[in-house]
Amino acid sequence: MAYVINDDCISCGACEAQCPTNAISQAGDKYVIAADPCVDCGACAGVCPVSAPQPQ
Ligand code: SF4
Ligand code: SF4
Repeated sequence: MAYVINDDCISCGACEAQCPTNAISQAGDKYVIAADPCVDCGACAGVCPVSAPQPQ
């Protein structure tokens, strides 16, 4: 399981710096989470202003 960033992402970049496994990167006008390195910690969801990262 992993978190997934939905279309609400405004590409602020706040989550990228918080991820302990560097699973988050920018992809076009959104940020994305790589499923394999994601350890489901929820740190990205905690800092996101629009609650775009959601557990799947
Ligand atoms: Fe990174 Fe944790 Fe978010 Fe997964 S849930 S992308 S490990 S901050
Ligand atoms: Fe997108 Fe939220 Fe990450 Fe900002 S913190 S880049 S809005 S997912």
